[in-house]
Amino acid sequence: MSNRPTIPIKSAEEIARGGLADAPFFRWPEPSTVFAERQMRLTQLSNGHPMGEYLTLMADLARLQQKLLDEAPAITIPKTLDGVDAAAPPLAAVTLPRASWWRDALRHIADAMSASTQEATRSVLMSLRHESDDELERRADDLLGERLGTRDLAAAPFVAAALEVCWTHALTAWRATVEDEGALRATAAADLSRCPACGSRPTTSITRSVGTSGGHRYLHCSLCNGEWHRPRATCTCCGLTEGVSYQSLDAITNADTDADAERAARAPIQAETCDRCNHYLKILHTDRDAMLEAGADDLASITLDLLVLESGRIRHGRNLKLLYADEPASADEVANA
Ligand SMILES: [Zn+2]
Ligand SMILES: [Zn+2]
Repeated sequence: MSNRPTIPIKSAEEIARGGLADAPFFRWPEPSTVFAERQMRLTQLSNGHPMGEYLTLMADLARLQQKLLDEAPAITIPKTLDGVDAAAPPLAAVTLPRASWWRDALRHIADAMSASTQEATRSVLMSLRHESDDELERRADDLLGERLGTRDLAAAPFVAAALEVCWTHALTAWRATVEDEGALRATAAADLSRCPACGSRPTTSITRSVGTSGGHRYLHCSLCNGEWHRPRATCTCCGLTEGVSYQSLDAITNADTDADAERAARAPIQAETCDRCNHYLKILHTDRDAMLEAGADDLASITLDLLVLESGRIRHGRNLKLLYADEPASADEVANA
């Protein structure tokens, strides 16, 4: 695999000098369209894709998520929750009390999708449909606490879908209380590798144009769909700028000629790798492809992940629609696999 940088980039200092004068530090999700846009992009990407069947299933799931968010009960979330430190994410995935309707949302998803899925998926959905509140809460605790076991993986995208709606709704309600992004700066100062609102890992990063200023890089939250600014050419995990380079599918599989290298340098999706901490996160360049959508395109570009992972890198991002086990399989699970 080639490790050659494939894109001429500004230094962190150059970008920092450009500042954020015309760009917000935090971008709030648009609740009326966030999942509908993902559904549209997943449907588009599924056409002729090797994972087309799965992308279509996830498009159906995104359609349901939009419906659930549109119909979510009105809630009020105080600016500061009891017991939450000012430097901690205000809507932390592991500590924010979950409204019980997330379970109703999950059961609605199970009902609505079980009729149109294949036997194996239908069986997972029907099993979820009949689980107790306690069992569903355990699933949520494990997923949000990044303690997912191999036995929970098949149900995880559906559990995650309901939780994602819940947190996107909570963030929107909280925004109505705090009015602006200022309340998130203290948590961001503590740790920019995770979402300043809910403390979750990003799914991917994506460039955004603001006014006449293009190319600001944001990290897209895997849970609440908020986005926070992180300068380009800075490792999204450890924050260092030395040792950051870029890889794309073209560069990895077919960079024999200058024309190949040129094409790789313009790839709409690249993996930003760090030699210091060995993590990577993808970056989606919307100036090269305006249709890119964080959740959908991250999922559809898994081939790039597999090749980068093969070289020993560690994924910093987390896509809740394609989770890997956080916990190693037990001997019992291996024996029954
Ligand atoms: Zn978040
Ligand atoms: Zn790093």
